[in-house]
Amino acid sequence: MAMESPTIHLLLYTVATAVMVVAELQRFEHAVKADGSLKFLVVGDWGRRGLYNQSNVAYQMGNVGDKMDVDFIVSAGDNFYDNGLVDEDDLAFYDSFTNIYTAPSLQKQWYSVLGNHDYRGNVLAQLSPTLRQRDHKWLCMRSFILHAGNMELLFVDTTPFQDKYFTETDHEYDWRGVLPQQEYISNLLKDVDVALKESSSKWKIVVGHHTIFSAGHHGNTQELVDKLLPILLDNKVNLYINGHDHCLQHIGSSNSQLQFLTSGGGSKAWRGDINQWNLDEMKFFYDGQGFMGVEITEDEVDVFFYDIFGNILHKWSGSDYTHSVL
Ligand SMILES: [Zn+2]
Repeated sequence: MAMESPTIHLLLYTVATAVMVVAELQRFEHAVKADGSLKFLVVGDWGRRGLYNQSNVAYQMGNVGDKMDVDFIVSAGDNFYDNGLVDEDDLAFYDSFTNIYTAPSLQKQWYSVLGNHDYRGNVLAQLSPTLRQRDHKWLCMRSFILHAGNMELLFVDTTPFQDKYFTETDHEYDWRGVLPQQEYISNLLKDVDVALKESSSKWKIVVGHHTIFSAGHHGNTQELVDKLLPILLDNKVNLYINGHDHCLQHIGSSNSQLQFLTSGGGSKAWRGDINQWNLDEMKFFYDGQGFMGVEITEDEVDVFFYDIFGNILHKWSGSDYTHSVL
C-alpha cells in the first residue's frame, strides 16, 4: 500500500485553514409574536453568585419580563466574575446563572457574548455545548447573528480588540482560537460588514461587551471607535448595545441614527466615576444597578431602562424618520 503523501496532508490543511478564514458568522432564527413584534431584555456584568444585588436585579427582570412578555434575553458579557468559568463543571454556572434567573418569564433563550472577565477563565468551557444541555436557556458564542422578524441582532466578540489585555501582566487571558490577534479582528470585521450589508432587516442592532462611547469608569474603547464604529455607521446600524461599564447609559449621535446603549448594571455598580460629556449627546446616565428592555415593531423601536425596583428611569423611541426622548 502506498504511503500517504505529505503534500496531500499539506493541501488538506491549507483547505481547512482557508475554510476557517472565510467562515461566515453562525446564524440563528427566533420567532416573533403573532403581530410581528419582538421584546427582549438586556443585562450585562452580572455573575456574582447573587451578591451585589444580582438577585434583586434578577427578581425585577422576572417581573418586567413577565409584564412585557419577553421573547428572549441578551447578556452583554462579563457573565461570570471575577475570572470566568474554571471548566464545564464550575458550580458558578449554577450559582450565578441557573439558580439566580429563576423567574418563569426568564426561562427563554439567553443569547450571550463574552466579556473581558470571561476571557480570564476557561473560554472554551463557557462556550461549550455541554452547558446548553445542563441549562437549555444558555447560549454563549463569540460572534453570531440572530435574525427575528424585521430585526437583525449581530453579536460581536469585542475583548480581542482591546490591545491592553494582550500586554497586561496582572491577569491571564484565554486566547485560544483568537491568535494571531490582528488576523482574528480583521476577519471578524469583514464578517460583520458582510453580514450587515447582506441584511435586509429594517432594524440593525449590534451587541458587544465593550463600550464604544461611555462617560463611565472605562470610558470609550478607542480600538472600537477606530475599527468597528465606521462599519456600524456605514451600514446604518440603529443601536449599539454594550456592558462593561457598570451603569445604565444612553448616548445619542448628533450626525447619525446610531444610539449607544450601556446595560452593565447586572450586579456590582455605584462606581461613582463619571466623566463629563456633551449634554446634547448624553441622554441618560445612571450609576446604579438595573437592566434594559427593548420592544420592536414594524415602525418603531422603544428602549426602556429599569432600576432595581422596576421603575422606568428612561425611555427612548426611535423610528427611521423621527427620534424622541420621553
Ligand atoms: Zn468588562
